[in-house]
Amino acid sequence: MRILITGGAGFLGSHLSERLLNKGHEVVCMDNFFTGRKANIVHLLENPYFELMRHDVVDPFKLEVDQIYNLACPASPVHYQHNPIKTTKTSVMGAINCLGLAKRVGARVFQASTSEVYGDPSVHPQPESYWGNVNTIGVRSCYDEGKRCAETLFFDYHRQNQVDIRVVRIFNTYGPRMLADDGRVVSNFIVQALQGRDITVYGEGQQTRSFCYVDDLIEGFIRLMNQEQVVGPMNIGNPGEFTILELAQKVIELTGSRSQVVYRPMPQDDPKQRKPDITQARKVLGWEPEIQLEAGLKKTIEYFAQHLKA
Ligand code: NAD
Ligand code: UDP
Repeated sequence: MRILITGGAGFLGSHLSERLLNKGHEVVCMDNFFTGRKANIVHLLENPYFELMRHDVVDPFKLEVDQIYNLACPASPVHYQHNPIKTTKTSVMGAINCLGLAKRVGARVFQASTSEVYGDPSVHPQPESYWGNVNTIGVRSCYDEGKRCAETLFFDYHRQNQVDIRVVRIFNTYGPRMLADDGRVVSNFIVQALQGRDITVYGEGQQTRSFCYVDDLIEGFIRLMNQEQVVGPMNIGNPGEFTILELAQKVIELTGSRSQVVYRPMPQDDPKQRKPDITQARKVLGWEPEIQLEAGLKKTIEYFAQHLKA
């Protein structure tokens, strides 16, 4: 198949590109390089079945493709809050452009949605049936509401125009090729620990997250995209739940760092707890994460140790 990946030069997009090429598909990677990098895909550029397009998903595009994975959108709070109006535009216009293309060429289209659609959840763990608790006017709203509106568009194109959709809700994912200065917690803590700097825990570090290793997530993407039973939304994430302080301690232990934990103010609207209910993924896809936190952190630490030296 010829497969378009928007945001293909980003963290998840580059892993997905690699996996799809290895399966024998042709990949068209579209990216505006806001948070993506050529370095993430440079090893794929020689492959004749890989094509790179510098393009912004906000602007319409025409291509002949069989499948579309829509991943274009900054994912780290630091990056998506840098230009919040652009973030909403990217989610909403990007969804419209991908859905319009899918409708025209009859492609199946996949939306990278997020656990952020649940906001600061009052139901724990979060099943797909939970509607969420989201602030419409806060600093995270550009991302949360942009992604919620994108889901709405996906389901309306599906109902109104019979567009063949799949929607995944991704829970915090980490691994090699995250940006060192990305601002997300796993990369921040690892880089701080490797550089012997203070580990910046926001609030008291009692908020929780559930961390999924990138290889597990990509496997879930491909299984969801290529089954006929459900369109989603489907949670994909690792249900292992840790406080941010526990994560800091784990990173210090695994890096053998002398870094100290320091406490910084809690950002506005930071969700207090997050953990996916993956009953649906287990049942429909037979999917379960295989790489647990310690093993995944070791691989990620190895990547940053190499990368920071270079
Ligand atoms: P990332 O920032 O590494 O990748 C996003 C990519 O999209 C980058 O390459 C960026 O340059 C590109 N991009 C941004 N705006 C664009 C635009 N207007 N036009 C074209 N390209 C654009 O982040 P990621 O972690 O790889 O996230 C990929 C997708 O998965 C995003 O949609 C994100 O919201 C979603 N997601 C990720 C996580 C996670 O934990 N990694 C969690 C939930 C959802
Ligand atoms: N966090 C932290 N220190 C950091 C970066 C993040 O304590 O240097 C916290 C943040 O407040 C949040 C959690 O870690 O509670 C996860 O943050 P991240 O930005 O990775 O993703 P989120 O799930 O909030 O979108």
